[in-house]
Amino acid sequence: MATSESLPWKLRQARLERSIKQVELARQLGVSQAAVSQFERGNTSALSFAKIKDAARVLGLDLLREREAAVESRALMYCERADCLANVAYTRGGKTIVRPRMTLAAAGMASYCCECGELLLDHCPNEDCAQPVSEGSFCAACGTAYVPPAAAGGGENGQADGRGRDLERIRELTRPRVLD
Ligand SMILES: [Zn+2]
Ligand SMILES: [Zn+2]
Repeated sequence: MATSESLPWKLRQARLERSIKQVELARQLGVSQAAVSQFERGNTSALSFAKIKDAARVLGLDLLREREAAVESRALMYCERADCLANVAYTRGGKTIVRPRMTLAAAGMASYCCECGELLLDHCPNEDCAQPVSEGSFCAACGTAYVPPAAAGGGENGQADGRGRDLERIRELTRPRVLD
């Protein structure tokens, strides 16, 4: 059975909206009615991609827009743990900065870090801002660090002591790891 919102389902909806019979569409595509019927029921291998594109054209369905709509419903997300393997810590001007690795995940759905299992965030951690996440280490709207440097050890008031600890921590975080 074709699931709602899938391409077979959308093609079928578009065909019904235009009151085009399966046999009619099949004739225009140069395939059997059985092939169209099977495709609409979710057997996507019943039609070649070229035929699917033809069908979309006949039915006025914009495949590219369908794909874009699917991509648009995804958001950048990141893990807010400074010590997570997904994130990279570095120093700039003696300050610790953590660059989070961004993941593209379905917007509005709970997603978890594939490294540490933490719930991923899709918005700025500054509650007054809460803008959607963009690439980089800092929120483009308010400048807040996505991953709080304090959590990486040391913190912003970085005394010599704290900085030393930071560097140690960064060395540890960036040490090459052997993955098996
Ligand atoms: Zn993580
Ligand atoms: Zn922000």
